[in-house]
Amino acid sequence: MTGKLEGFQAISTNTTTNDYCIKQYTKQDKNNICTYCYSNEMLRTYRKNMAPALQRNTDLIASKVLHPDVLPVINNAFFRFNAHGELINEFNLINYVNIAIKNPHCTFSLWSKRYDIVYKYFKDHDKPKNLILIYSNPKINHILENVPKYFDKTFNNVQEDLQKPRQNCTGQKCKDCLLCYKFDTTNIIVEKVKTYGKKKLNQKMKGE
Ligand code: SF4
Repeated sequence: MTGKLEGFQAISTNTTTNDYCIKQYTKQDKNNICTYCYSNEMLRTYRKNMAPALQRNTDLIASKVLHPDVLPVINNAFFRFNAHGELINEFNLINYVNIAIKNPHCTFSLWSKRYDIVYKYFKDHDKPKNLILIYSNPKINHILENVPKYFDKTFNNVQEDLQKPRQNCTGQKCKDCLLCYKFDTTNIIVEKVKTYGKKKLNQKMKGE
């Protein structure tokens, strides 16, 4: 990965063909972070060339439970699931769980808004001890203090000038921070809406 995630490896899927992402983005609700989705923007424009590779991941990882032998060995201490994309279905979640099980030396962090998929699966299954589930709060400027069941942390977005003392994610690289990649840190992460989103957010909030 590059930018904020420099130094990290990730497995991601295609945001632009994910039914949930399409639905959320299409609403253009000014209070929903999906309206300002960096991934949707990048994959349609200057990172368009990434989309076919992400689509191959989508097609594979959401099609069936993959045999453990074909799952990757991860040679890292920390790993990100879904730097792009959102959980597609239960197959997708099970395959991520099984990658975590296959790689107990590594801590995996998965961001998701799909409480429905997570709840349905984990009410009957144990969560691997090396998988951190981060509930990606869709609502801007509303810090979610209560972590939903089966999740470990919440990730919240606020406008740049709001809740400044609470912004513990703004302006740093993940490799220097690791709040989201360790259990014994804070459970509530807050970041300002990023550059692309910030411009669009300001326009929306002004009603332009
Ligand atoms: S809180 Fe830290 S680890 Fe989490 S996304 Fe922000 S910079 Fe990365």
